[in-house]
Amino acid sequence: MEHSFIAWLRQRVSHLPKVKLGIGDDAALLDTKSGIVVTTDSLCDGTHFILSECGARAVGRKVAAVNLSDLAAMNAEPTSLFLSLCLPRASASEVAVEIVEGVLEHCERFSVPLAGGDTNVWDGPLVVHMTAIGEPSEQGCWTRSGAKVGDAIVVSGTLGGSLLGKHLHFEPRLSLAKSIRSLVTVHAATDISDGLGVDLLNIVTESRCGARLELDKIPISDAAKLRSQATGQSPLDHAFGDGEDFELLMAMDPSEASKLPAEIDGVPLTVIGEIVSRTGLWTREGTGWKQVSAKGYIHR
Ligand code: ADP
Ligand code: MG
Repeated sequence: MEHSFIAWLRQRVSHLPKVKLGIGDDAALLDTKSGIVVTTDSLCDGTHFILSECGARAVGRKVAAVNLSDLAAMNAEPTSLFLSLCLPRASASEVAVEIVEGVLEHCERFSVPLAGGDTNVWDGPLVVHMTAIGEPSEQGCWTRSGAKVGDAIVVSGTLGGSLLGKHLHFEPRLSLAKSIRSLVTVHAATDISDGLGVDLLNIVTESRCGARLELDKIPISDAAKLRSQATGQSPLDHAFGDGEDFELLMAMDPSEASKLPAEIDGVPLTVIGEIVSRTGLWTREGTGWKQVSAKGYIHR
């Protein structure tokens, strides 16, 4: 539903004045002199977190981190955060304070101010919205639409099983993006919020091309291995299909990719495939290639 809604929205509100990059990427890029990068995300109790299990401070950390992750994926530097709360009546003030404390942890780490928001109390569950504002780095924004045929596909970190904890406690890859832009030119990027398959498909669809994946190169997390024991799916299925890893997924010239170290500050950087002209996602089968669905399980 969400993809088709967003597709409808894009044609419904196309040709926006003063918007360089509108709906369809990790953030919008407004057309001022140096550009302003804007992103917003919402989290709902029961869907994106379970308040009674994780506590409100973790919710504050998560809402800040998901927004900062989108700015990192755009190669933007955060400049301010705005927090809007719909608080459950019974515990409104304690929950509000804890959420703000969680947000401020990231504000302090990344020297970004919490500059505004809105507070409401209602009879529903906790819903938290954040808008993050940033500015493009000097090298300009990374979009989803810039991948070129022949590009190497590079992913940061290890993937899968984020439900075991990473989805609440993860590092928005702002400093990694900074290191990467100082070393290489990136053609396209996104953060992995919906799963490697879905987010790679977003890049190749926007870039009007396809991708060949080397399945044995995909960096599988320990959490993916643990999850697989409980679910019966393979660790690779989890690495490919699970969401909320919030790692960077990038396309760049292979000569640039070869300049990257194997890891930066302990975060692995791995080439997992190549951008090709044929649309869709492809994996090896015998001597040829077969198409894989972005969400589908991989049997091997
Ligand atoms: P991400 O996972 O990176 O946060 P999303 O998949 O949520 O990105 O959104 C994709 C694009 O659609 C973004 O450009 C976002 O701003 C836009 N979008 C999503 N929902 C809405 C909405 N209700 N109104 C306007 N734009 C929306
Ligand atoms: Mg994103």
